[in-house]
Amino acid sequence: MTKYIFITGGVVSSLGKGIIAASLGRLLVSRGFSVSIQKFDPYINVDPGTMSPFQHGEVFVCEDGAETDLDLGHYERFTDSYLSQINNVTSGSVYQTVINKERKGEYLGATVQMIPHITGEIKSRLILASKRNNPDFLIAEVGGTIGDIESLPFIEAIRQFRSEIGYQNSMSIHVTLLPYLPTSGELKTKPSQHSVNVLRSYGIQPEMLVLRTQVPLGKTEREKLALFCSVNKDSVIECKDMKSIYEVPLYLEKQNMTSQVLKTLGVEEKEPNLNDWENLVYRINNPNKELTIALAGKYTELNDAYISVVESLKHAGFKNSAKINIKWIASEDILQDEDVKKHLADVDGIVVPGGFGVRGIEGKLKVIKYARENNVPYLGLCLGMQCAVIEFARNVAGLNNANSTEFDKNSEYKVVDLLEEQKNIAGYGATMRLGSYPCKIMPETKANHAYNSELILERHRHRFEFNNQYKDLLISKGLVISGTSPDGLLAEIIELPQNDWFVACQFHPEFKSRPQNPHPLFLGLINAAIKRKFDL
Ligand code: GLN
Repeated sequence: MTKYIFITGGVVSSLGKGIIAASLGRLLVSRGFSVSIQKFDPYINVDPGTMSPFQHGEVFVCEDGAETDLDLGHYERFTDSYLSQINNVTSGSVYQTVINKERKGEYLGATVQMIPHITGEIKSRLILASKRNNPDFLIAEVGGTIGDIESLPFIEAIRQFRSEIGYQNSMSIHVTLLPYLPTSGELKTKPSQHSVNVLRSYGIQPEMLVLRTQVPLGKTEREKLALFCSVNKDSVIECKDMKSIYEVPLYLEKQNMTSQVLKTLGVEEKEPNLNDWENLVYRINNPNKELTIALAGKYTELNDAYISVVESLKHAGFKNSAKINIKWIASEDILQDEDVKKHLADVDGIVVPGGFGVRGIEGKLKVIKYARENNVPYLGLCLGMQCAVIEFARNVAGLNNANSTEFDKNSEYKVVDLLEEQKNIAGYGATMRLGSYPCKIMPETKANHAYNSELILERHRHRFEFNNQYKDLLISKGLVISGTSPDGLLAEIIELPQNDWFVACQFHPEFKSRPQNPHPLFLGLINAAIKRKFDL
């Protein structure tokens, strides 16, 4: 039977609960247990697909096309697993199901209420997630902070669920902040005590506390927290700020967090195998070279908007013992050719990531032109491929003002356009080409060498596509279409053979990179950047 671990947050948001959930997942996996992780997000959007990245950070996409919270990216990367729609539950999706059922008359005349109908639907999502692959452990993280009105139905559902399945089968971990007052040199436990009191007032007594702190936790604070929050002293776990998120599992392991979790849930301890992870952290902490990669995007003020891209770059760096510095370039600041040089003269590689809307597009095209002409390794992701096609069409094939119809509906040369079947779609939720699709790779290309495979699966999230009307012309000018859908109709990867590394893809490889298994296209970029910087 699956054991359930509920993770809530207290005092403030943005505590890194997702990393803690993912780290605990890793520690359980490293003991040979199977683990799934589910995120409960209290907002009313059905999924984050319609939210601005400024609001919410990146939209992570699963194999099945689910548009989810970015924490699912951490879960997949830390536990090296594949999650799905059922792993991300929002209030919006819960209400939608309940209201649809009501409209169909499925409640047989009952008054539909928060309890039992909304809480019942939340509980059924827990069951559904645990039915998928029957994991030994299901970790469920509740977004937001204890005390938020929005998350109450989730907390109530968890309270009911815990009593229904028997208390020995689940536990509650509360993650909070210990503020440090430099003037008195003290760590303050009071906000955490209050937060636990609020959680208790909802009927949940946590069995474990994880304290986010800048400075190490002393014996006194530990004892105080254990006493006032009714938690075993060994279950007061400190989680200091770390240089790398990948160090967190090892830090938690040192404090016997997993053993304590197993003990609480009555599961027999198993010996962990963390050798690979320790090697990874060693490589992270002992780089022998540094690279600077420019990331030219639109949402650069919020680094979370490109979190999977940044992590993928780092993963490819880890493999090469290279520290990757990201140089954020707001593409709308690139107005003149001189701006490009100013921003890019010192970079070793360039990425143009995914995005939507016209703002900053001309800047991206200038950045790509610079990469192409100066043989700076380039990786284009989704919009970054569409822009590479536009740049090539304009500046190499002479199609003046070529564009995507996303940015200019009346462009004379619509080198990127909507597919016929997309043209009649009216709504915005989950209407893009989403999720995993196969891609056939042409032999003897950079993509083929990178993947070492002729058929791959990659995740998509876009509406627009390369326009095949221009295929022959662009190919005749030197563009190589190195990956297509198996029927050959959709261009999925393009490259320029005369450059050392100029590869762009219509899909999002960043969703499949793992710290111990970097994605081939990111590795291709980083290898080329290393070669350029150190082998000259
Ligand atoms: N805006 C482009 C499209 O919809 C690219 C999307 C993306 O980069 N994810 O096709």
